[in-house]
Amino acid sequence: MVELRDQLFLLDAGTGVSNLFGHKDVLERYDRITVLLSHYHLDHIIGLIYLLPHLKGKSLHIYGPGVPCYEDTTEGILERLLQPAFFSRPLREFCGEVRCFDYAGLDFTVDGIPVGVVPQRHSAPSFRLTLDNKLIYATDTAFDPSDWRGDYRGMTLLHECWDVVSRAESKHTSAEGLLEGLPPELLRSTYLIHKNPEWTTGDYDALQRIAEAKGAHVACDGMILEI
Ligand SMILES: [Zn+2]
Ligand SMILES: [Zn+2]
Repeated sequence: MVELRDQLFLLDAGTGVSNLFGHKDVLERYDRITVLLSHYHLDHIIGLIYLLPHLKGKSLHIYGPGVPCYEDTTEGILERLLQPAFFSRPLREFCGEVRCFDYAGLDFTVDGIPVGVVPQRHSAPSFRLTLDNKLIYATDTAFDPSDWRGDYRGMTLLHECWDVVSRAESKHTSAEGLLEGLPPELLRSTYLIHKNPEWTTGDYDALQRIAEAKGAHVACDGMILEI
């Protein structure tokens, strides 16, 4: 969840949306929730159903990579899942105003706030999203240092690390590969996200050590960042 210039954003909508019950004070400050989707794998959209109790009196805007990245619109893709028998209520009835937008793989704005869009390397079209030139959200992507040429000073990065050490042919990122290959100016403001349920305690400890050695951080639920 990101509060930015009087707008409330969610970066994807995984099971973490269930944590919003603990943040009602934040939610009640906004009339609209804007969800930015990187892609449609279930672990990134299943939490839309947990939004329902928070939408009374609000509107819901969802931006996703629809046509031409996929053969259907964001609305069409989500409606296939959010309807009976999978869920009691169709998406369009979640609240008074539900609007879906296709960002079509190109940069766009939300009420003047720029959202940068970069295609990623994954098993389905997924996109790195940069909010207001400040916060980069990169999940569900294989990491390639050549995708990170540029000036990232002053930016905060939330990056997936599904694997602790590198694996051949992976459609995901390893902590080891990521923290070796990122521009150095980003390391101290890098937070590792997309926790792998297969991590053992040993994996988790190794991840903490790899992150600490580079000055990066392992994100956890409830963490609050100032960007
Ligand atoms: Zn995922
Ligand atoms: Zn995925």
